[in-house]
Amino acid sequence: MLISFDCPRCLKPAHDEVTLTSHNVNCGACQWTRSIGESERKGESPVCCLVCGCGDLWRQKDFNQRLGVAIVGLGIVLSTIAVAYMMPAVAMLVLMIFGLADWILYAILPDRLVCYRCHTRYRKIPTLAEVQGFDLEVNERYRQESIRLKNAVTP
Ligand SMILES: [Zn+2]
Ligand SMILES: [Zn+2]
Repeated sequence: MLISFDCPRCLKPAHDEVTLTSHNVNCGACQWTRSIGESERKGESPVCCLVCGCGDLWRQKDFNQRLGVAIVGLGIVLSTIAVAYMMPAVAMLVLMIFGLADWILYAILPDRLVCYRCHTRYRKIPTLAEVQGFDLEVNERYRQESIRLKNAVTP
């Protein structure tokens, strides 16, 4: 699996590949390293976050969210222009094309896992089926935790 994370020591974005034979997650920029415990993964899939040890991960589509929003925005703009020029059929067609593209992308894009606490992303994982999607309640818990930690450091 491929891991993208913000290094806990140098805070730079880092990438690492973890295979069945690797025992550590490493930062390429500094010497930060964290060993992977036997119980922290099942085969190639992480059971918990391999960077911070957090047990809560969520599943999302491996897709640039800004690009996704831009595509939806483009569809709305194009169909609005068509309506402005009195072409409702064209407007409908544009929305249908964008809707179909969205559906196809959703079907073919792979999943990735994200850590609720440190937002580390895990790609190219073979088994993801048992991991839940995004849970606002769990996310809120970690958001509150990070606010508390920030306040504790800078009173
Ligand atoms: Zn680092
Ligand atoms: Zn984490």
